[in-house]
Amino acid sequence: MAMSNIVIPESATAADYPPIPEVDNLTSFFWEGVAKHQLLILRCGACGTYVHYPRPVCPKCLSMDHLAPQQVSGRGTIYSHTTTVQPFHPYFVDKVPYNLIIVALDEDSDIRITSNMVDIANDDIRIGMAVQVTFQEVAPGLTLPLFKLA
Ligand SMILES: [Zn+2]
Repeated sequence: MAMSNIVIPESATAADYPPIPEVDNLTSFFWEGVAKHQLLILRCGACGTYVHYPRPVCPKCLSMDHLAPQQVSGRGTIYSHTTTVQPFHPYFVDKVPYNLIIVALDEDSDIRITSNMVDIANDDIRIGMAVQVTFQEVAPGLTLPLFKLA
């Protein structure tokens, strides 16, 4: 299976890769940015609003013509978090318990990214912690934007 720049070997099993989204025309910029270790978020050139998840229309001014990817700092704060103990996919069987975090980006705290925190014990994660994006290859050929303490 090939998606944008993400190439998964034919021999891979479900336990080798986490579920990953289909890349389409609206989201390919995000993954191209990840490949270059850049966090890209759509921003409306007409009103300045950051827009995430990617959408074809600015939710603030309804512009359809001015949304373009813009690199953000990758800095933010933990808005919420949880620890997952049940593996609902073969990839996660040997990874539980693992954390899930929601990061509010510094550029606009209404922009939230769901990810995982690395290099920290799950029990030490706190709402409000300052974090910084880090790009890590979680499986061969698959890099994800994860977060670490800033
Ligand atoms: Zn707008």
